Amino acid sequence: MRIITATIGSFIFISSHVLGQGSGHGAHLHGVAELTVAVEASAIEMMFTAPAASVVGFESKAASSEQLKAVEDARLVLRDPFRLVTFVGKECDLVQAVVDLTAISSSQKDEHDDHDEGHDDHDEGHDDHDSVDDEESHSDIIAKYEFKCSSDGQLKKLKFGPDQLLFGLDKVNVMWVSESGQGAAEVTADQLVVELN
Ligand SMILES: [Zn+2]
Repeated sequence: MRIITATIGSFIFISSHVLGQGSGHGAHLHGVAELTVAVEASAIEMMFTAPAASVVGFESKAASSEQLKAVEDARLVLRDPFRLVTFVGKECDLVQAVVDLTAISSSQKDEHDDHDEGHDDHDEGHDDHDSVDDEESHSDIIAKYEFKCSSDGQLKKLKFGPDQLLFGLDKVNVMWVSESGQGAAEVTADQLVVELN
């Protein structure tokens, strides 16, 4: 599993440079998510990254009870990756789902509060700077999945849907790598199936 994780890591790095998407942290397009899939003989690893705005409708820390509920709803939905995508040609069971909502979850607030320490001398203009950062920064929601699969059969397709993409996303950029090859595809409501060749 480690080898393929390293492989997909470098693959993403190369792809984002080739596609010109490596323009810095948090520079995402709303409505567009990324899915990387690493396929082994009897296991699949998957990472889903989506703009928080497209999942819960905001990218700041959840504050209102409505926002907190949206975060928890998103967590529940993302715990079940089969709501996003299903595998054709191979029987796989989910063994682990890690949903990272820290970008919009107020439970991680302490991390950011620490940064204020020692900055008292620079009060002038500093507050303005912070608020600009908050307005312009984007937040991603990341979910990682591990599946255990039967050793027979071959993963032939990734099927999204049934009728549209999860969360009403416009597009999911899919990158996949297996022991026999790799590829990329754009999934939209009009093209919900990725063939793995
Ligand atoms: Zn954003």
